[in-house]
Amino acid sequence: MNRYDVIVIGGGLLGCFAARNLTRYKLKIALLERREDLCTGISRANTAIVYSGYDMKPGTLKAKMCVQAAQGFGELCAELGVRYSPCGSVMVCFGPRGAKILRQKYEQGIENGVQGIRLLNPQEVLELEPNLNPRVVLGLYAPEAGTVIPWELGIAAAENALQNGADILLNSEVTDITPLENGFKVSCGSQTFWTRGIINCAGLAADEILEKVSSPKIRIFPSGGDYLVLDTKAGGYIRHVIFHEPEQKGKGLTLVPTVEGNILLGPSEVPIEDKDSFATSSEGLAEIKALVSEVIPSLPLEHVIRSFGAIRPNPYWVHLDPLSGRYVPEDKGINSFTILESSPGPFLSLIGIKTPGLTCANELGKYVANKMAEALGDVVPNPAFNPKRPAPLRLNDLPLAQRARLVEENPLYGKIVCRCRKITEGEIVDSIRRKPGAVTIDGVKRRTGSGTGRCQGSFCTQRIIEILARELGCSPAEICKDGKGSYVIRNMGNSSSGKKATRND
Ligand SMILES: Cc1cc2nc3c(=O)[nH]c(=O)nc-3n(C[C@H](O)[C@H](O)[C@H](O)COP(=O)(O)OP(=O)(O)OC[C@H]3O[C@@H](n4cnc5c(N)ncnc54)[C@H](O)[C@@H]3O)c2cc1C
Repeated sequence: MNRYDVIVIGGGLLGCFAARNLTRYKLKIALLERREDLCTGISRANTAIVYSGYDMKPGTLKAKMCVQAAQGFGELCAELGVRYSPCGSVMVCFGPRGAKILRQKYEQGIENGVQGIRLLNPQEVLELEPNLNPRVVLGLYAPEAGTVIPWELGIAAAENALQNGADILLNSEVTDITPLENGFKVSCGSQTFWTRGIINCAGLAADEILEKVSSPKIRIFPSGGDYLVLDTKAGGYIRHVIFHEPEQKGKGLTLVPTVEGNILLGPSEVPIEDKDSFATSSEGLAEIKALVSEVIPSLPLEHVIRSFGAIRPNPYWVHLDPLSGRYVPEDKGINSFTILESSPGPFLSLIGIKTPGLTCANELGKYVANKMAEALGDVVPNPAFNPKRPAPLRLNDLPLAQRARLVEENPLYGKIVCRCRKITEGEIVDSIRRKPGAVTIDGVKRRTGSGTGRCQGSFCTQRIIEILARELGCSPAEICKDGKGSYVIRNMGNSSSGKKATRND
């Protein structure tokens, strides 16, 4: 029976953590995600920083959640078996305008309760980051910041929700919602679900989901951002997350030493119209390169191995313009975390959750889960809730003796498929067999890190396609890179399962 107490719409970071935290209660829960995998939207393209919390206005929900999240992030990642690098951050500036802002942020950080935060003189900054432009005038150090792999975190939360009894339903696009006397009817094409409450975590489409049951209040106006990724060869160039506060107005540069040892640079800010276009822009990428020459002029940009685009879900209150008959945005965007409770309910919407949504994903999940439980009434805690999710095997992180034992038990752990990251066939098979498992090349990448090294999948993609096809019982021609229609192989003929291979674009 497709009857639930709560349906979570959207399987990004926020939906995965909402589902995980709902399983702390004795409730029947489903997460509906339109794509074939989790964390393929905003959650797959962001700066991957765990913020310490000095950027947020004191007293706000955002500030409280962020400080609390940063302080407990190591513990959360340990529970979920997710890699975390608590590298700390240093914000730097090169003139008086930046220095004034850093001092304000320091005061704000103290007021917010950020621990260990310190202003640094140029010598102290250069001791922390010797490759930085020596013209630096002031630094703001925050030891509680860090970096995590966003999709690894989101997928782990979803796996934990599943272990605790939630249903994770992929390829389930919510197309219609009908309020009933005691809940809602939710349609995904021809499939129908009934639920007492809804948590809307549809990311860039959260406004559209809300408008299925109420008139427009907030709409998302997207903007784009670009990133560059440097190979691990350049990895040692920085040690902390570096934020740059520029002298001229506009966005500075952020540099992140990632968990896997790369450097992430970005994001730019570029206008876009299309909420679904994760394309990069040449202006944005050029802007990043120009900023690099100001912050770390010697950074070896010849080691760039990848660029990617992101979409910001900028929320604005809207009103109906009587002249045009259209909903138009207010002048200023919304800066706070927007959690709308609409009626008929309980219907909670997380709309336009930007930075630090990754940092606060578990806090936001807890917040909406508790609100939902309260609104449903008669809800009791789930005594069987287990916050721990067993981490997948990562052979490369294990001592040699342990690896040797594993290879003896399963020879697939002895076959390297991704040479750059040294990921074995055994780990790839595990990523497909776990629930919810990978069904695409990027699904394997999100779970194992394959294809993220210097060759960007040139060597391993073919092998991964073969393994996916073997495990899923289909033809290699049916395997997609990421999402419907993103076939990689052209004209492979019939599938091994007897199915005719679908169109290859
Ligand atoms: C450029 C950028 C940089 C950022 N950097 C940071 C950072 O460094 N640190 C930090 O803390 N935060 C950061 N953030 C914020 C953070 O990334 C987001 O808050 C978070 O990823 C939002 O996740 P989400 O679940 O709301 O959205 P998404 O990940 O987009 O998930 C929404 C999901 O809903 C699904 N969906 C949509 N419509 C439907 C439907 N009809 N039916 C079913 N499913 C549907 C989508 O397919 C998608 O999977 C950044 C954000 C951006 C844009």
